[in-house]
Amino acid sequence: MKRTDPSVETGGEDGGVECPYCGSTDTVREHPKGPSLCRSMHYCNGCEQPFERFG
Ligand SMILES: [Zn+2]
Repeated sequence: MKRTDPSVETGGEDGGVECPYCGSTDTVREHPKGPSLCRSMHYCNGCEQPFERFG
């Protein structure tokens, strides 16, 4: 059940997630290949650190 709103395509969980290390929202979501379906990987462009967000 996904709601898609083209006006907020980069909002929500797919982008702009706040980095837990530096607080930057310049982050990108990554797509893990493993069985990590209950979590999402993100990468901070600010401090160049990968981090997880649990969903
Ligand atoms: Zn950061």
